[in-house]
Amino acid sequence: MPKKLQPVWCLFFLLILLSVSTGQQADPRAGVSSLRYHQHQEFFRVVLEIEKIREFYSAELKDPERLYLDIFQARLQPGLHGTSYVINSACVKSLRLAQKNPSTVRLTVELVPGSKQSEKIYYLKDPPRLVLDIFPRGRASTTSTSTPAPGAQSERPAGQTSGAPAAPPKPRAESSRPSGEAAAGTESSSPRPPAPASNGYSLVRQLGLGVKRIVLDPGHGGSDPGCMSPSGLKEKEVALDLARRLKNMLETQGKFEVFLTRDSDLTLPLEKRTSFANQKGADLFISIHLNASPRKNRTGVETFYLNFSPDPAVNELAARENASSTKNIREMKLIVDKIIKNSKYEESRDLAEKIHRNLLEHLEHNFGPRDDLGVKGGPFWVLIGSEMPAVLVEASHLSNAREEAALKTETYREAVATGLFRGIMEYVKSLGKG
Ligand SMILES: [Zn+2]
Repeated sequence: MPKKLQPVWCLFFLLILLSVSTGQQADPRAGVSSLRYHQHQEFFRVVLEIEKIREFYSAELKDPERLYLDIFQARLQPGLHGTSYVINSACVKSLRLAQKNPSTVRLTVELVPGSKQSEKIYYLKDPPRLVLDIFPRGRASTTSTSTPAPGAQSERPAGQTSGAPAAPPKPRAESSRPSGEAAAGTESSSPRPPAPASNGYSLVRQLGLGVKRIVLDPGHGGSDPGCMSPSGLKEKEVALDLARRLKNMLETQGKFEVFLTRDSDLTLPLEKRTSFANQKGADLFISIHLNASPRKNRTGVETFYLNFSPDPAVNELAARENASSTKNIREMKLIVDKIIKNSKYEESRDLAEKIHRNLLEHLEHNFGPRDDLGVKGGPFWVLIGSEMPAVLVEASHLSNAREEAALKTETYREAVATGLFRGIMEYVKSLGKG
C-alpha cells in the first residue's frame, strides 16, 4: 500500500461508504425504466417496465378527457420525466410520463373524447411490468383494473380494482412477450373507486368540510394484547397511552371534540371501533398501533389507509391486525365491495401521508434516523366501513431494541403523540378550515 492514499483509493472508500450508508436506507421506490406502446387490433396497450410490483390507482379526468395511472412508491428513470408521446390512434391522443411527487409516478393518457369503452390494468412478470390496455367503443370488453396475486406466473386481466390482489390465476394465452399480439381477456367487471372531481379536489374539499370530531382508536385491548416486545411491553398498553396523550394535545386546541374508542383495557371488536366513529359523526378516524417485525433491526413508521395491497408483507401485517375480527371468509365479498366503494380513498391517503411524514420527521429530528416504511394501502378491517377519512399508523417497532427502550420513556411517547398531532393539524389546515 502506498504511504499516501491515492485519489483512486479515496474514491473507492468513498464508494464503499456511500454504498454502506445507502444500504442502511435503501430507496424503497421501485424504478420505472421504460415505456412502450402498441396499437393492437382490439385495443391500445401501454407497457411500463417496473422493478417491483407496486400499488397503483387510476381515475379519469375531464377537460381534456384523460385517464391517469398513479404508481405509488415508484421512481421514474430521470430521462423519462416529462416525456410525451403523440399517438393519434382511434382512442388515444397522447401519453405523458412524470414523477408526480417524490414517491408517485404518473402516466397520463389523453383520450379522444368519447372514444374509450373501458380499460384494464394488470401486472405481468419476467420482466416485471405494468400493462394498461385501452379498449375503444364498439368492442366487447369490461371496465376493470387488477393486479395478479404476487407469484402468479400466467398473467391475465381480472375483474378487480386498483391495486387489488386478483382472484386465483386462470392461465390463458396472454403472451409473455413484452408487447405480444395476444388479445386481452374479458372477465366480469367491478365498480372502481370514484374518480376525484375534475378540478382535482375530493368531495370533502369541494364541500368545504372541516374537522370538528376526531375518533382515536388505541389498537387491541383486553384479551387481545397486540404484539409484545421481548421484555413484555404490550402494544395495547402503549397504544392507549399514546392515544390519551394525542387526545390531550388535540383538545388544548379548543376546537375539536376527541373521542377514544376505548379508554381502558377493554376487549373491543374491530368492527365496533369503526361503527363507534360513524355513530359519533366523526370527521377523522385514526387507529394507533405498534409494529413488530421478524427483522429485529427494522425501525420507523408505517402508515396505512384502506385499499387492496399487492405487497405480501402488507397482507401479512393486515392479517395480524385483523386477527381479532369476528368476520369469516364468506364475508370477504363484503370487504371487497367496501374497499371498492371506499369513497374516502383520496382523503384517507392524504391524511395518511401527512401523519406519516410529520411523525417520521419529528422522531428523526429528536431521536435520529429510522426507516421510512412508507404510506401504503392495506386491507385492514378496522378501516372498513368508516364514513370519514381513516388511517392506521404503526408508530414505532416493539420488536426493535432501540425503539422498544424508547417506547418505555415519557419523552418518546410524547414525541410520537406530537408527530401524530402535527400530521393531523397539517391535514386540518389543508382543508382551509384550520
Ligand atoms: Zn396492532
